[in-house]
Amino acid sequence: MPPASAPAALAAASWLAWAVRGRSASIFGRSRWRGPRTRPAIALTYDDGPSESTPAILDILARHRIPATFFQCGANVDRLPAVARQVAAAGHEIGNHSYSHPLLCFRSREFIYDELRRAQESIVTHTGAVPAWFRAPFGVRWFGLDAVQRRGGLTGVMWTVIGYDWSRTADAVVDRVARRVSNGAIICLHDGRELRANPDIAPTVEAVRRLVPMLLDRGYTFETVSRLLCPTT
Ligand SMILES: [Zn+2]
Repeated sequence: MPPASAPAALAAASWLAWAVRGRSASIFGRSRWRGPRTRPAIALTYDDGPSESTPAILDILARHRIPATFFQCGANVDRLPAVARQVAAAGHEIGNHSYSHPLLCFRSREFIYDELRRAQESIVTHTGAVPAWFRAPFGVRWFGLDAVQRRGGLTGVMWTVIGYDWSRTADAVVDRVARRVSNGAIICLHDGRELRANPDIAPTVEAVRRLVPMLLDRGYTFETVSRLLCPTT
């Protein structure tokens, strides 16, 4: 067989890159990335928790009486089970963000299954919540994930707006999110930093403190991911 032409190889490579990382791609597993555009409802989501600073986020959400969805890492739940429980007890939804936050590309189906299963077990054990949604670490999906998600009763969720709150100032996060939010948006922020103990999430906390009242003023209501994506249930 003749070698693939350079443009064809490039096209294949960029297709693969989109399938792995694209927020709207479902090639490697059923995945959602926004809610309906017909209602002024949005979902705040937090990845990489729980962390020592998660309660600071919970305080802000409680003050405004709004729900959110926390995609927790099993290893962080095992490290801080009381914080994980506090999130569930406050009425927030809990999703699965893998056990140890690995890149799932170039991994076997067994590895991927083990990561999702261990996280699910840890979350169920410590919070009593049974996650229905999975957010892939780094947003990276891979071969085998679809079957693993189905086996675990999980559906993938990406995001409509990502805050880059792990690397930017609160000002930059607020500006970015405020400009990109629209009906049905799923906003991705972080109440932890992968598996780091005692991470500094001050920019995230400050951004949330300013974004929530701003978005309420604009007429948005906040919903959990389940409520946003399955409004009839
Ligand atoms: Zn993450």
